[in-house]
Amino acid sequence: MNSDKKESILIIGGGLIGLSLAYEFAKKNFHVEVLSKQRSEAAGFVAAGMLAAHAEGLSDELLSFGQESQNLIPQWIKEIEIDSEISCGLKNCGIVVPFEEIKDLEKFPTYKYGKYLNREELEEQIYGLDAKWKHGLLFKQDGQIDNRRRLMRALEKACTFHGVQFQEGTNATKLIYENNKFKGVQILNAFGEIKSIFYEKAIICCGAWSRQLMTDLPIYPIKGQMLSIQGPINRINRVLFGPKTYMVPRDDGLVIVGATVETMPALTLEILLRV
Ligand SMILES: Cc1cc2nc3c(=O)[nH]c(=O)nc-3n(C[C@H](O)[C@H](O)[C@H](O)COP(=O)(O)OP(=O)(O)OC[C@H]3O[C@@H](n4cnc5c(N)ncnc54)[C@H](O)[C@@H]3O)c2cc1C
Repeated sequence: MNSDKKESILIIGGGLIGLSLAYEFAKKNFHVEVLSKQRSEAAGFVAAGMLAAHAEGLSDELLSFGQESQNLIPQWIKEIEIDSEISCGLKNCGIVVPFEEIKDLEKFPTYKYGKYLNREELEEQIYGLDAKWKHGLLFKQDGQIDNRRRLMRALEKACTFHGVQFQEGTNATKLIYENNKFKGVQILNAFGEIKSIFYEKAIICCGAWSRQLMTDLPIYPIKGQMLSIQGPINRINRVLFGPKTYMVPRDDGLVIVGATVETMPALTLEILLRV
């Protein structure tokens, strides 16, 4: 451990949030260790990377939080890009939300932040959009980042640059308490060994799996699918955020299309009956 470091902190989970926090703490001269069960299962490596506080129709505090966050992102990304020497693909490309009925558009929570598009303008923004979409809102404030191929790797590299230590393939299986005080975690490491590691402070960043360590958290994973298509470059320049589908065009013509959600058996049955 570097003796110049102020304090130690354990980050449990090496996904988008774990790496972001590890990076910030390391820059503030903390000694940081990241436990990461499985690098490739992190949602950060599959997410579409939309920065969509307005297009998602957020409201109240969540919208303000999203807006503030989006304002901070460009500077934050600049720092990661300098430390990692990897460009993260941040693009202020705007997001288009299409509507079939004008009444739905007017009810959209972030309606007042968008630019209204009629059918013709909608078609100009998103070439080939189905004719049933007659209206749209363009949120120029929203955009995207290439999290899958660039941001996650840049964060890992920037963390390493600032001295963050990683334990890959390590599953934190239990939090250890003594007299109700947090003492550390029990881990199952990549060699199949069960060990205890001791830290005064840890942050759980296990994403959808966080309930494994804190059983009362109302969080659980849901299976789903998405796909990527290699399209021509610059054919679609805006992100399209539809009610059930989104399309995120990257600079090199790759289009991310998402996403299904495998819901509960009752809903599956309902769909079968309709068929
Ligand atoms: C299909 C999809 C599309 C998405 N699109 C967007 C989008 O366009 N825009 C947007 O803002 N957000 C999007 N998201 C959400 C975004 O990806 C997540 O909010 C974000 O990645 C969560 O980061 P996280 O670090 O909490 O979790 P993750 O990135 O999932 O990382 C969790 C990590 O913790 C590890 N872990 C779990 N349990 C343990 C344990 N016990 N011990 C050690 N390690 C453990 C896992 O192996 C994993 O690596 C999307 C998500 C999905 C699934």
